[in-house]
Parts: sequence; C-alpha cells; structure tokens
Amino acid sequence: MATRIKTGVLQGIQGLAVVAEVDLSRGLPGFHLVGLPNTEVRESRDRVLAALRNSGVKIPPARITVNLAPAGVRKEGASCDLALAVGVVAAAARKGRGFGRPVDAGRLDALFLGELSLFGQVRPLRGLLPILLSLRGMGSRVAVVPREQYAEAALAPGYDLVPVQSLSEALEWLQRGELPTPPPGPSTGPDGADRAQAAEMLGDLDGQALVRKAAVVAAVGRHNLLLVGPPGTGKTRLARLLARIQPDLEQEMALEVTRIHSAAGRSPGCGLMVRPPLRAPHHTTTRAGLAGGGTRLDPGEVTLAHGGILFLDELTEFRPGVLEILREPLEEGRISLVRAGGGRSYPASFQLVAAMNPCHCGYLGSGLRPCRCTHAERLRHRSRISGPLLDRFDLFVEMGEWEGRFLGRSRGEQHPEREADWRRRPHTDHLTAARDRLRLSPPGISEAAVSLLEEMRRPLGLSLRGVVRCQRIASTLAALDGVGRALPGHIREALEFRRGILDPAAGQF
Ligand SMILES: [Zn+2]
Repeated sequence: MATRIKTGVLQGIQGLAVVAEVDLSRGLPGFHLVGLPNTEVRESRDRVLAALRNSGVKIPPARITVNLAPAGVRKEGASCDLALAVGVVAAAARKGRGFGRPVDAGRLDALFLGELSLFGQVRPLRGLLPILLSLRGMGSRVAVVPREQYAEAALAPGYDLVPVQSLSEALEWLQRGELPTPPPGPSTGPDGADRAQAAEMLGDLDGQALVRKAAVVAAVGRHNLLLVGPPGTGKTRLARLLARIQPDLEQEMALEVTRIHSAAGRSPGCGLMVRPPLRAPHHTTTRAGLAGGGTRLDPGEVTLAHGGILFLDELTEFRPGVLEILREPLEEGRISLVRAGGGRSYPASFQLVAAMNPCHCGYLGSGLRPCRCTHAERLRHRSRISGPLLDRFDLFVEMGEWEGRFLGRSRGEQHPEREADWRRRPHTDHLTAARDRLRLSPPGISEAAVSLLEEMRRPLGLSLRGVVRCQRIASTLAALDGVGRALPGHIREALEFRRGILDPAAGQF
C-alpha cells in the first residue's frame, strides 16, 4: 500500500493540489519519480535522499517509486521536497527494523510544503501564499511550512501552521506533535506621516500650478498621467511622490497583491503588502518582461503593478511593440498570456504614469539650453508613441524647470499664501475626503457641463474615449471641490489637461 502525502505546486499565480504517492517495493534499490515532473522536480530526488541521510534517517534498500498525482499536469518547482521526504520516512517506518521514523497517522494528513537543502534544512519557496490560498478547503487544516515564511503563510486563513526549519523538526512534530515555536510576526504599519509629507511636497511645486493640480487629480482619481519635460525637471521624482500619496491597500487587494508578488518570488517571507506597489521597468524591457510569459507563464510588470502604479520613464525609448501590450490591461484591468498548451489571464489593474522628453535632444521649450532638433526629428520623436496609447492617458502635463525648489524647501519655512484651496496647498485630509466622495457617491456631470463638452467635442477632435476620460477627470475635480456635480468649469479644466494630446501644435510637444 502506498503512503499518500498532500502537497502543492505553483502554476502561474495559482496553486495546484498534488498528492505524492510513495511506494517501497522489493527490487533493485533506486528512486523513481513519475507524474510529469520537470527538471527542477526531478532534482528533488537527489535533494530528498541527501536530506534524509543527513537527518539520520535509515532507508531500507528498496525500490522507491513516487507518483505525483494528478499525473497529467506538468509539475514545476521544488515545493514538493518536504512531502516526498516525509512520504519516504513514513513508508520506510512500515518496514520496521529501525527504518524510517515512527509517525502519527493523523498528523500525516497535513499539507507539507517546503524545499529541502542537502543537509535537511527547509528552505522558503516561491509562491507559498498562492499555493496555500488555492488549496484552501481541500481537506487539510494543518500546513507544515518553512519557518522563514511563517508571516507569509499566516496570511492564508483557515490553516493551523507548523513552521519548521528542518526535516528533523518536521519529523519530530510528526512523531510527538510538539509544535516548534513560531517566529515573531513582522511589524508593519501604515506610515501616515510619510503620506502627509508627500502631499506637502506637492504643494511646493511653486510656479507649476498645472503640474501640481494634475498630480493631485491623478492621485485622487487614479488617472493615467503623462509627464513631458526636459531632463532634470523632476518627472521621476513626481511619479514616486504619487506612489507615496496613495492610501494603503484595502485588505482584499493587499492579499491579492501579496499573492502575486509571492508567486513571482519577490516577497519571500514578508507579511501582507499594504502599500500599493510601484513598478518602474527599464525601457530596455522585453514584451515578456512587461506582459509576463516564459515557459512558466510568470507574471510580468503589468501584473506586479496591479493595485499600484506602473511608471514608464523615457516612454519614447521603449520599443513600440512592447508598449502595445499595454492596451489590454488599460482597458480590461487584466492581461491574457498564451503559450502552447493553454493560456492564462492575470490581474493587471494599475495607474499608468509615464514620462518623456519633449524632443529627441530633450531641451525643446527649455530656458536652459536651445533645442537642436530639426522639425522632422521632433515629429519622429512624437510618433514613437502610437495614437491609441496616447489616447489612453487622461492627464497630459508639460513640466518646466523650477529651480530645484521642489527638491527641498526647509520644513519650517512658511508658505506666503496659506490658502485652503487644494489647487494651491494639497493636504492629505483633503485628498482622503475627495477619494471617499469618489468612491461612495461620485459626482455626476451637470447638464450645462454635458452641453459644453458636446459643443467642444467636434472642434477639438475628441474621440469617444476622450469624452469619457474628460468626464471622469471633471468628476474627480468636482469631488476635490466638494460639489455634487461637475460644472462647465470642471470640463474646461479637464480639457486643459488633454490639450497636448488633442493638439500637438498647442504645446511645445
Ligand atoms: Zn530637441
């Protein structure tokens, strides 16, 4: 009779339940692993045997056969190591004569997850959280997990956890039921002070009224923002500030974000990710790097930015084919990946913030240096971003130099005009109130505002998508002003933000 041990493997950003069936039979001694394991899983044979030997477990000279069920699905990763070792120990114990270790049959019903070192240490594994979440309700209430990942495992509700550092510790628990002491949980707390300071820094954008306004509107309404300006105007810094102003993630979203980052191997051992992620892939990134892919269909940058901000600096330097993959996530909030043998769809709902130079040399419109580009070069530079992608930005802002004041006003310094208006002095409380208003009762568009937009639509060449985006910005502006409906003034302000997108001749862009 075979010994059955429950475990799991990672598939993309989900877990798959796997049962390791271990059988010891007479025959030529050896270890045979069947059930579509990939190379990494096949190597666990050597790790498991060495770990058993180095943990002082005696194995009878027998033919060991392990089947990973369901057999028809390809298994990847090293998450089954611990389960295989435990299965061999339990099967060997049945032979008596001091082989294996005595184990309690009830505890053998637990879920075993962990990679083994040759010396029998239980190592952290990629995707522990998604595996635990996917395997919930599959019959195991107890999960044996790597001690280093205790905080991560504790995020999956419904399990009694047994954190272990080594195979010996796991075997000790199996025999006597003594729980190893769990490590202390991580101490994470929302940093309200940091957010307040970030909002205050926005207020210091002196002489950059439109930039400041756009930043606040983008932060509150999570609108997509394109920043255009010469090098050194703080485009990158502004994008990072926007990430800092965002409030903490809601519980459900935080769990989703943590699950994704765990699957990507980016958060081994950490607790709940409460801050919205900020991803800033380099412009040399590939299609697969941005969208996700590879043989394992790993999540890409758009999925890692889920719930947060995707910041693309030097937007014109990205290869156009790479940027085109953004269309699906920007419309659907998800990305579909295809490969031979089946595709997957991953969440990819993010706020897009991008920055670019106004021209090839970067100094068009700068007071510091003259632009050396020809007219043709300027047109070519702009045409690197496709119309449909450009149309998906809500706010378009030109940034000029502001003598570095943005970078450091001393904190005690008094601002000359202490106006309550958010357009001058954005304040965290004000931003939070506007966000709540948008969520609970988003302002509609007044009749006068609708007719103004209708009137402007044709002369400005607004697309249908452009109209919808204008209305959304107007709604955010109304929420910031604390009024129930967007007025014509809000539409005018919203159109001002799209001026550069609508009419390249209007700006210096
Ligand atoms: Zn130039």
